[in-house]
Order: sequence, then C-alpha cells, then structure tokens
Amino acid sequence: SSMTRRLFVRFSSMGIAFSSLLSINAFGNEIRVGISLPTQRDVAWVRYKQGLETAAKKLGVKILMQVSDQDASVQAAQVENLLSQKVNVLIIAPQDAAAAGTLIDKAHKAGIKVISLDRLILNSDLDLYISFDNSKIGELQGQYLAKNVPKGNYVVFLGAPTDNNSKILHEAAMKHIEPLVKKGDVKIVMEQNIQDWQPSVAQRLMENSLTANKNNINAVLAPNDNTAGGIIQALASQKLAGKVYVTGQDSELTAAQRIIAGTQSMTIYKDQNKLSELVIQTAKDIAENKPIKTKFYSANGKKNVPSIFMEPIIVDKYNIDKEFIESGFFKKEDVYKFK
Ligand code: BGC
Repeated sequence: SSMTRRLFVRFSSMGIAFSSLLSINAFGNEIRVGISLPTQRDVAWVRYKQGLETAAKKLGVKILMQVSDQDASVQAAQVENLLSQKVNVLIIAPQDAAAAGTLIDKAHKAGIKVISLDRLILNSDLDLYISFDNSKIGELQGQYLAKNVPKGNYVVFLGAPTDNNSKILHEAAMKHIEPLVKKGDVKIVMEQNIQDWQPSVAQRLMENSLTANKNNINAVLAPNDNTAGGIIQALASQKLAGKVYVTGQDSELTAAQRIIAGTQSMTIYKDQNKLSELVIQTAKDIAENKPIKTKFYSANGKKNVPSIFMEPIIVDKYNIDKEFIESGFFKKEDVYKFK
C-alpha cells in the first residue's frame, strides 16, 4: 500500500540464502505487535507461541510477546507494559475473559486496536476476534458421544469457568446430548467445570464420579486433550481405560497416541501455526490501515465483535493416518510409538 514502504534485507548463513522482509509504516517505523498469552501449560499455547514467532519473522513484523502462567493480574501488568512500549496493535488471549475487558479500554485510550486470540474477551469494545470455530468443536464432541453412546451414564466436564470457550463448547455439545437426556436414555451423573483446565483437577473429579457411581460410567465429555489425559488416568486405575468413550480437542501428540491405544475416542485437529500466521497477517493489515474482511460476529456482552474462524477437523481411529500422518503434521513412528 502507499502507506507502507518495504525494506528487503538479504543475507546468507552457512551457505543457505534467505531473505527477511521488514515492514515499515508511513512514519518510517517498523510495525510492532504486542502479544499477551495466558499460559504454556497446554500444547495449544506452546504451538501458538512458536507459530506467532515464525509468522512474525516471515511477515517482517516485530513482535513483543509476554506469557503469564494462568494469572490474570500478571497478564494485566504485562499488557500495560506492552502498551508502554508503543506497539501498533495488540493481540490478547485472555486468562480471564471478563477481567481482560478493562485492558481493551486502556489500549483504546492509547489508540491501539486489540485482537482477541482463540479466547473471546467479554463485555468490552473489542475490535476483532480470531479463533477456531469453538461452537463447531463442541458440536463435533457432543455429536460423537451421542452417536456412539446413545444410552448410558455421562460425565460432562467444562473447561475453566474464566474461559468463554468453556461455555461455547458446552452449549454446542449439549445440543446433541440434551435430546437423549429428554428421552430418558442418557443420564448425566456429574457436570463440572475444571478449574484452569488442569488435568490433575479433571483426574480427581473423575475419580470422585467413578466412586459415586460404582464405576458405572459410559461416556465422558472432556473439553480438551490435556484434561482427557487426567480423566483417562482415573479410568485406567479402575481398569476402565478403553471401555469408556472420552472426547478431546487440540491434536496433542499424546492424544493421538491414546487414540491408537484405544483409550481416547477422538480429538480435534487445530493447526495453531496456520491460525498464528492469519493473526499476524491481520495485525499487520490493521497497522497498515487495510480493511479487514470478516464473515462472523461474536456477541461478547457489549457488542457483536467481527470474527474470523478457522474450521476444526475431527480425528478418530478411522481417519488418524490421513489427517495426522499423511498431512505431515505428525511422524508415523511418534503416533504409533506405544503400539
Ligand atoms: C483453547 C484450547 C486449550 C484450552 C486450555 C482453550 O481456550 O481453545 O485449545 O486446550 O484453552 O488451555
């Protein structure tokens, strides 16, 4: 665009030539994007961190990234720090969807637009939301259980209560499970949030549920792969791993291995590298005052936030080779390591 001059720098190292592109805005400054991530405890966020770094290099954007360890007040302080470093655009994946609203006001006072990444920031004048289609993910999880376990006892878990995705996933999954409950075929014996999406919490809750129901459980709605891991450990200690349907999402390698072992039923393939590139490209477009095309809106309690969603893909034992191995996402020997 006319607003942008580009500087090409070419250099070579160890015989391999590569070029790097630095984007310079109208004032002759580089484009600076501030990024605030909530955690590194789930593989998804490790992939986002790497994916965002790789995309920024590729697209010639300077990023300033801060990561909190599941602590909303630390995240707030980190965001203030990023704002003081004169970033052009801010990307936030909130630890606490409601608490992060005030950060948007602060950014806007400094004239900085905010993109909410993966998790929606609530009750605020948020500019843009970029994520996987979480409603679709919840539907795929719920549909999978409803189809394979049309009768029996269900344990229904939700992710962290501070994460808007937890509510979206649950509502979408229940669209498929609720009709079976109404018919009297399915009984929900436990319905619980998992604090901070912690696998140890999921494991303990699952143990309690097995005890309370004399091991008579047929299906578990697990909101992601990491918590599914804790749930499957609880099942394994009662020799029930592989006998109870368990969902998941995130395409973690350990989940792929459990699908091969038969202890986890499905996961959701989410390519965080691709989403990261889309986010950095969009942040760059915003900094260059280019129009952003969106197809969706997400109600956040204050406004309908323009949204961009990437499609999730369901993976179970029938399509795992095609989706994970033939696609090159995982190596065959890694997925089949314990076979
Ligand atoms: C993300 C999941 C992740 C979970 C726990 C959710 O908001 O969408 O990919 O597993 O947070 O970190």
